[in-house]
Formats: sequence, structure tokens, C-alpha cells
Amino acid sequence: MSELKLFNSLTRQLETFTPVHAGEARVYTCGPTVYNYPHIGNMRAYVFADTLGRVLSYKGYKLTHVINITDVGHLTDDADAGEDKMEKMAAEKAQSIWDIARHYTEAYWEDIKALNIRQPAHWSIATDYVPAMIDYAQSIADKHCYELESGLYFDTSTVAHYGALARAKTEEGEGRIEEVDGKRHAADFAIWRKTPAGETRQMEWDSPWGKGAPGWHLECSVMSEALLGLPFDIHTGGIDHREIHHPNEIAQNQARCGSDHSGARFWMHNNFLIERSGKMSKSSGEFLRVQLLIYKGFHPLAYRLMCLQAHYRSELEFSWEGLQAAFVRLKRMVMGVTNLKARHADTQTGEADTPNGDADTPTRHAELVSASIVPNEPMVEADKWTLKQVQGDVVGVQGDVAPAINLSVNEFDTAIVDDLNTAIAITAMETIIGLKKVDVAQQLAAIADMDAVLGLNLMNLTRADLRVRPKAAIITEEDIETALTARKEARADRDFAKSDAIRDDLIAKGVEVMDGDPLGWDWKLDI
Ligand code: AMP
Ligand code: ZN
Repeated sequence: MSELKLFNSLTRQLETFTPVHAGEARVYTCGPTVYNYPHIGNMRAYVFADTLGRVLSYKGYKLTHVINITDVGHLTDDADAGEDKMEKMAAEKAQSIWDIARHYTEAYWEDIKALNIRQPAHWSIATDYVPAMIDYAQSIADKHCYELESGLYFDTSTVAHYGALARAKTEEGEGRIEEVDGKRHAADFAIWRKTPAGETRQMEWDSPWGKGAPGWHLECSVMSEALLGLPFDIHTGGIDHREIHHPNEIAQNQARCGSDHSGARFWMHNNFLIERSGKMSKSSGEFLRVQLLIYKGFHPLAYRLMCLQAHYRSELEFSWEGLQAAFVRLKRMVMGVTNLKARHADTQTGEADTPNGDADTPTRHAELVSASIVPNEPMVEADKWTLKQVQGDVVGVQGDVAPAINLSVNEFDTAIVDDLNTAIAITAMETIIGLKKVDVAQQLAAIADMDAVLGLNLMNLTRADLRVRPKAAIITEEDIETALTARKEARADRDFAKSDAIRDDLIAKGVEVMDGDPLGWDWKLDI
């Protein structure tokens, strides 16, 4: 079994993954601040964390994954500047913070589901842990903190190598733009923010330092320790967290457990999705959300595939053309697997399913994202998730595995253990989908195992699922099908004037008629 190598941001090197607890992998992922909808860049961070979790399961580890929901404490600047994001949004919308948090948490869970991201073992909600945060702060306050009028501050000079993760050149760190009166070092940060005298905040708790709210960095240290124990295996987040949030978490963990203790063995960071026009930003009117992709007729898993085509440590530039290309690639894979399933059914029963016999109603965006997910009720319980090893032994297959399948399975394995080289892993899976003259059951078993790692849901998706009806469409798919049948009849009768008129009418309604499409598509809606 090939060793899993992961890039550790702490050492800036590839390291072999060896678990803290034999046979287990414990992973903590910094979750969203639920003051607004997540944009697709945020969701890249969770596609990455999910893929990592799937790889750990694939390698046989019992996975415990925690993702937190930040509903308190995150200021508009990652350092100690600005307002609390939740308070600010609640004031703008004239709603309670609790309603804001609930609404955006549910929206986030819809995106999680749409992207086929497995439920973690725990969604830890920051406000559930405030008493634990106060206890934690008390336990380190004497040696590592000092009190100012505005709050309790962590003195970063009290731990060794503060900021090593960020490779900060000076103790100033990065991003410290607003100073707080009395701070001993620019990099010191608030672990408890006091409510200013005369003000009342919607979210505030009593503490030994007065009424107030916890600092954002404190929550992740507290929740990861509470749910995973220290040290745990892997802490993930977007690359921006490497600069301030994670160095601060590490400082707290050091204060709690001794100076050399960063809290996690591996710190892993995904690079950013970038979008040059600025549409991704939450402050721009219609920003890029998973929902927007669905409204425009893209299946959300085309976006997952787009993410997996790039290495998680590379920047990925978003473009509609790129998404379209990923969508076409996904369609090809689904067509390939559908054909294999039909051939397999044929060998089982002597009757073939029609490979393209999925002309039922296209998927609506509402169905893709409908039921929101109940916290702490995993869709698939991590520890019961039973992906079997594909390497060298294709699941469910009797007898020898075809050498051509084994070759690609080994390529897949080599790629995925090499710091999650999903781009190569996808091509290995495609090679297996495209193999001719090998045992179809073996092919399907290998694809199922690989896709359990990549999470593209290939074994279940149908062509109809991929035909997502854009929200702005002014024509129903039933009417399109009726018009296309009439057009076929007109052509059979050599009534080309009528056939052209039907086609023109469809074009006027935004329907592209796709005669002779190599993927067998009859039409698509151009919105
Ligand atoms: P936030 O809700 O702002 O705390 O961000 C949630 C997650 O998304 C964090 O792990 C961020 O590092 C990550 N993130 C933010 N912007 C991007 C982006 N453009 N591309 C990838 N990850 C991002
Ligand atoms: Zn965090």
C-alpha cells in the first residue's frame, strides 16, 4: 500500500502521513462565517477538505472530521480591526443575529450538499462553545494574556516562534492595520472582546473580564481540542488563514499544551479561486454562488470537477468557459458510465437498458439543493464509510483483474497519495471508463471506488440529472420536447419550412437545437 504524502504548511514540505492514533484520522476544518452566502471560492476550501477526508477514508483510516460554523467573533478584518461581521450584517438587515446565522448556515449546507461534500462527524457551532472558551481563556490568561479596556489580549511574545507558520518576517506579522491602544506587540490579538461601556451587543456573555464576546481565533482552538483532542492529525483552511488565523490558533495551542505543540501534526491550506471581474466578492451585488451556477444551468458537480482539475495548492482562475469545459467533461464521464452500466445489465439479464434512456424530466435547481441537512446527523457516517482499497484488488470482482484496469488503478493511487493529485487521478479514472474489451463488472467496480474518492457521484448521475433547467428559462422542457418531436416529424415529411420555423421559434426562446451533438444532446438552454 503506497504511503500517503501531504504538504505540511508548517514545514513547507511533503511529509508522510502517520496518524496520531493508530488507524484514525482526525481533521478540523475552519468553517464559514455565516453572515452572508458563501461564494464559490469559499466552497473550494470545503471541496478540498472533503477530498482530503475521502482520501483518508480510502486509505483505510477511520475519519473524524469537524467543520465549525463561526456565528460569533469574526471581525471584518482578520486581525483585531473592524466590526463583528455578524453584528454588522444583522444591523444592515435589521434582523437578529441568530436569524442571520441560521439562514446562512442553511444556505451553506445546501451548497455542501449540492457539491456532494460528505457530512463531517460534527458541525461545531461556535456559540455552543462560549462557556468552554471562557474556561480555556482563563486557563491561559495568567501566563499568556493581559487585559486592556477593550478586552483580554494574547501576548504573542510568550510563546516560541510566534508566526512561524506564516513565515512572518517581523513580529508585526501581516495585515495588522489597525492598532489598539495599549497592545504590547502589533501581532497580539484579542481572545475576549469586551462590550464597550454604554453599548449593548446582540451577542454578549458574562465573563471574568466583563460582558463581551470571544475572539475568533479562540473558537477554533477550543472546538478542535474539545472534539478531537490535542494533538490531532490535520487542520485545514484557505491559504489566507496561514497568515493570521492559524498562527494565532497555534499560539493559543502552545500556551495550552507547551511551547512546541502546534495542536495539529499537519496544517494544510488550499489556494484561492480567483475571479478577475470581482463578482466573487460578497460585497458585489450578484456574487458568484453555487446557486448562481445552478440558476444558469450548470450542474454543481461541474464546479466540483473544475476544482479537482487543478491541484488544491495552485490558484484556480474561474471562468464561465472553464466551467463549461468541466461540465462537458462531466457529461462525457456520465455518458461513459451509463453505457457501461447498460452493458453490464445486458450481461446480467440479457437485456440492455437503453444507454440514453433517461429522457425523463431534467433536474430542477430546487431538487439539487432541497432538503437542508440536520447538524450532527451525517449523510454517511465517517466511521462506517466503507470504501475498499482499489489498489491491486478491485472490489467485488472475482478472479484476476484485467491488467489494463490495474494499470490505471495504480496510476490513480500513485497520483492521489502524492498530495492529492486529483488532476491525474481523474485522467486515470477516465482511462478506465474508456477501456474496451475488459470485464465490465471490473471496470464499474474500479470506477465506483475511484469516484468514492473524487466525489463526482458518477455511479448515480444520469444524463437527465445533468440537464439543469436555468431559472430564467421562459419555456418548459415539456414544450421543448413537444416542439422537437414536431420538428422531427416535419423533417421526416420533408417539410423544411415548418421544421425551420419550429427551430427559429425555439431559438427565440433561448433554446439551442443541437443536431448531431457528439454527446447525444438534443437541446440546451442558452441563458
Ligand atoms: P470565511 O467564511 O471568510 O471564513 O471563509 C471560509 C473559507 O473559505 C476559509 O477557509 C477561507 O480561507 C476560504 N476562502 C476564502 N476565499 C477563498 C477563495 N477565493 N478561494 C478559496 N478559498 C477561499
Ligand atoms: Zn478557524
